[in-house]
Amino acid sequence: MAKAFILVKKEQIGENMLRLELSPKDGKPLQFKPAQFVNLGLMDKGKIVKRPYSIASSPDSKNLEFCIKIVGGEFTSLLPPLKTGTEFSVDGPFGPAFYDEKKDFVLIAGGVGIVPMMSILRYRARRKGGQVILFYSAANIKRMHYFEELRAFSQLPGIKIFFSLSREVCGGWPFHCGRFEHKDFLANLPSPGKFNYFACGKKEMVDEMREILLSIGAKPELSHFEGWGV
Ligand SMILES: Cc1cc2nc3c(=O)[nH]c(=O)nc-3n(C[C@H](O)[C@H](O)[C@H](O)COP(=O)(O)OP(=O)(O)OC[C@H]3O[C@@H](n4cnc5c(N)ncnc54)[C@H](O)[C@@H]3O)c2cc1C
Repeated sequence: MAKAFILVKKEQIGENMLRLELSPKDGKPLQFKPAQFVNLGLMDKGKIVKRPYSIASSPDSKNLEFCIKIVGGEFTSLLPPLKTGTEFSVDGPFGPAFYDEKKDFVLIAGGVGIVPMMSILRYRARRKGGQVILFYSAANIKRMHYFEELRAFSQLPGIKIFFSLSREVCGGWPFHCGRFEHKDFLANLPSPGKFNYFACGKKEMVDEMREILLSIGAKPELSHFEGWGV
């Protein structure tokens, strides 16, 4: 059954990106695992509009955080004018609960695909566990959301992060440059064996990653792929 959540914070975090924080109306946190998603629902002209969104917050937090790209479709066009106090319906959680902090993970995020990785990293940052290697690509630095928080995570033992800008001139940029099929990315990818893999982002990018990872021997049963239309 859907639960009611109240919008307690709305923040523009880029030219077309909104960060929303929702609090459970009954005060009871939603039970979920890192990298799962929910269906968010909003009333519009007497009918409910629902779309799936990954949770960016850790299961340790009472409030749920979402980071949503405004593409002007049926659901996202409802978001910019919303005021705090608006009620959302939340169905879920959905999606496999594959993340286990005791295991080693390679995470690959393109653009807004960073959202479920934030849930994993925020959860992992508060406890001891296996290795987490994140490859995060965004078009440019303005679209590299959560950059400072991720930089702080990369100082923690067992967490390594490679940032990459796909559409920016590299001069002065201290990190990698170019799309994921770039040789820098492949050179840093650990060989499969003990690693689990999770790639998330635009469908085309995720399909490409699936091909690359399976071709280097990643085990399908330890690999998760989530390709979205945004
Ligand atoms: C498991 C899962 C998790 C997801 N998590 C996230 C997340 O964390 N953050 C996030 O931002 N999205 C996420 N998505 C995508 C999200 O569910 C919606 O598809 C997206 O927000 C678009 O919804 P919409 O109603 O605005 O577009 P729709 O009305 O459903 O339109 C469908 C598509 O048409 C395109 N489109 C529509 N209108 C326009 C327009 N005016 N200009 C350009 N293109 C347009 C968009 O590309 C859109 O994807 C996730 C999807 C899945 C399956």
